[in-house]
Amino acid sequence: MTLRVARLTKAKVEKKIPTREVAKKPSRPKASSRPKFTLSEAQEPLRGKTLNTKSNHPTTELQNYPTTELPNYMIETRGIVKTFKNAAGEFVVLKGIDLTIGRGEFVSIVGKSGSGKSTLLNMITGIDHPTAGQMIVGGTDIYHNMGESQRSRWRGKNLGIVFQFFQLLPMLTLLENVMLPMDYADMFDFDQRPQRAKEMLALVGLEKQASKLPAAVSTGQQQAAAIARALACDPPLLVADEPTGNLDSKSADAIIDLFMKLVSEGKTILMVTHDPSLTSRTHRNIIISDGELIDEAISRSLPQLRHRHMLEMTKKAQRVTYQPGETILDCDQHVDNLFIVKSGAVDVMKKDDGREQQLAQLGAGEFFGEIELLRGGKAIACVRASQEEPVEALTFPRADFLRIIEESPITAEALGKIVETRLKENRANQSKSRRDEMIVDGGPPEIKIPKG
Ligand code: ADP
Ligand code: MG
Repeated sequence: MTLRVARLTKAKVEKKIPTREVAKKPSRPKASSRPKFTLSEAQEPLRGKTLNTKSNHPTTELQNYPTTELPNYMIETRGIVKTFKNAAGEFVVLKGIDLTIGRGEFVSIVGKSGSGKSTLLNMITGIDHPTAGQMIVGGTDIYHNMGESQRSRWRGKNLGIVFQFFQLLPMLTLLENVMLPMDYADMFDFDQRPQRAKEMLALVGLEKQASKLPAAVSTGQQQAAAIARALACDPPLLVADEPTGNLDSKSADAIIDLFMKLVSEGKTILMVTHDPSLTSRTHRNIIISDGELIDEAISRSLPQLRHRHMLEMTKKAQRVTYQPGETILDCDQHVDNLFIVKSGAVDVMKKDDGREQQLAQLGAGEFFGEIELLRGGKAIACVRASQEEPVEALTFPRADFLRIIEESPITAEALGKIVETRLKENRANQSKSRRDEMIVDGGPPEIKIPKG
């Protein structure tokens, strides 16, 4: 498994990321400092397992998981389940979370209120403990063979935590607030702590406010001070729960700028947010719906869908792996599924007078087959795995796909535009002699959703 991950990664790192979907994303960590997987391969260790997380977690067998096998993950959660009990009975808040986050990644987590975001962060930070499953943070299994006080010391040295309401101590100056974690974790020489706290405040632009009390600065500055405090012990990982939730948009932007700077210097940041304008600035966006993770290829490819539809697709999709060069859809083949590329790349080809011509290459988070599903009928082009590496795709049944887009008019509209663009590209590539045969008419494509 490890070898396979490494091999896939090398090919992937060198490959161009398709422009259509990630144009606005910040550049990701350099290959040398990057995790040994890419966006779409984040769940590579799950390869071969079904996506139905409920039924598939051998949580009791995880005690001896070899943590050294994947040293480049900053966070690895395995089958994390969290159940709360109250008078009404048991309530499963996290239903088996499998997630890997690489060193140097900037990752956002979104989800409706009550979906389990804070609970998941509390599992990652060791503030609360899971009912089942394994959590490896920075190579340390933080729940097996580790007691509460040990975990608390580990947290102090290895994690920076940022909260929505800052949680600065009101009677202490900003400088004193930033010194606290160093005192608590007994990091840095006693004499050096004030200087280091000043440097941290300077890093977040607060050098002039160091001797002020929290109430004397703006909320944006309070959050910046809380970030300086989180950085005091130089942790490799920052975890933030709605860090901009209490800020105006300008202050929120400044905090995200700061996070991006920290990420560019090598920190890993995991941030829960409600704000879609912030998720576009992270490397990866993870959606949690009702205690379960949505497949990232699905949320990237069909971002307009409601979370419940994405979750349904996550559960119903089948994973299929194709070898390099293998045909996925033949020209003229009947199409029964929507295909979403999860890792690797596919070439969309056209046969023209016996000659093959490449129309497009699609990568992770892009789909194909939708033209045939929407218009009915056979493939208008052929699709095969690129020569460089295997392709992992999700396939999703036609009837379910048509029902879901019928229930989501904005997805239907977005799909219509993509179909239109693709048909135009297709047409532009068409030689004169074959044009009339391949394209039904010259007008805009028909995006009526067929029944069934
Ligand atoms: P989010 O951060 O996504 O809004 P949370 O993780 O805070 O959601 O909560 C998820 C669900 O778990 C909610 O329904 C919440 O009421 C419940 N929950 C959270 N913490 C506790 C607790 N300590 N005891 C009981 N239920 C809890
Ligand atoms: Mg929350």
